[in-house]
Amino acid sequence: MRITRIETFLAPPRWMFVRVETEDGVVGWGEPVVEGRAEPVRAAVHVLAEYLLGADASRIEDHWQVMTKGGFYRGGPVLSSAVAGLDQALWDIKGKQLGVPVYQLLGGPVRERIRAYAWVGGDEPSAIREAIGAQLDAGFTAVKMNGCGRMSPVATRAEIRGVLERAAAARETLGDERDFGLDFHGRVSPANARRLLPLLAEYAPLFVEEPVLPEHTEVLADLVNASNVPLALGERLFSRREFLGPLRAGVAIVQPDISHAGGISELRRIAALAEIYGAQLAPHCPLGPVALAASLQVGFATPNLLIQEQSIGIHYNRGGEVLDYVADTEPFRFHDGHLLRTDRPGLGVEIDETAVRKADATGHAWRNPVWRHDDGSFAEW
Ligand SMILES: [Mg+2]
Repeated sequence: MRITRIETFLAPPRWMFVRVETEDGVVGWGEPVVEGRAEPVRAAVHVLAEYLLGADASRIEDHWQVMTKGGFYRGGPVLSSAVAGLDQALWDIKGKQLGVPVYQLLGGPVRERIRAYAWVGGDEPSAIREAIGAQLDAGFTAVKMNGCGRMSPVATRAEIRGVLERAAAARETLGDERDFGLDFHGRVSPANARRLLPLLAEYAPLFVEEPVLPEHTEVLADLVNASNVPLALGERLFSRREFLGPLRAGVAIVQPDISHAGGISELRRIAALAEIYGAQLAPHCPLGPVALAASLQVGFATPNLLIQEQSIGIHYNRGGEVLDYVADTEPFRFHDGHLLRTDRPGLGVEIDETAVRKADATGHAWRNPVWRHDDGSFAEW
């Protein structure tokens, strides 16, 4: 079954879809994007398309090898995300061709439902209780929020207290039966992380995410030993190789993004690598319906899955929403904070092609904010 057509669509708020069509008219969808760098990923997809057009759609692993290694230079967010979206589309095609969900092709289901968490902001500590209450009312059993806003490289006592107040508010609202993750978002320096983690232990977060920037892998072992708080990271890592150091350091949870880290093929391998270290998978996914559907397919077939991120109905999706691009919202309906396994073929998502084509006519030029410290110097967002 030859690949005959590959198209890309920019879709608000900050996403991109790829549509891959075969000579038999089977259509697969993928979501290749790096938020804020969609245009270079789009260009990379079309360079890779030169190789895929006319090729046999069924040879997913061979295409993955050639797409990631065949250009001599390899790796990085742009190429890995382009490969990721195309890989998702090829898995979608294979599932649809065979009439089975992708999780069946990965060994079959190991669970019936997947726990998801909801985002509650956290930039404004005073709003945390209300935001968590709303998600509890919606049935969620876990939430995630930012641990802090902009933070000085060596934090003031007030900045430290601000993080602890957020954690205390979350724990008090949630009680002991529900969970919260605290995202440091790479805003926290290694020195600040060493101070904060032991102080956060009493609030028992499910995890602290990106306790330091990805380039500070060498301090992770120290941070693991600094407290009993489980550490999570991985949205800015792009291959199983890049997860090896953090896993060796003792990270408890890996959070690869299926649209950044080589797609379904590589996410599956990252999960298997994490399993060796007794670590759990919690796929990063602030993206659209294809990325979420692809993540769920991996999750239904992966023994060491902890929880799934998702951004359905979230305030930061301005100008477009996960459900705006699907013809059938049922697979994305929450049941007590969980998404249920279905028997729909491929990725299990029916994309509203008219909506996607219309979105691309407007497109987007989303960029993340650039933050500054009080003295005018660059601050991590
Ligand atoms: Mg994060």
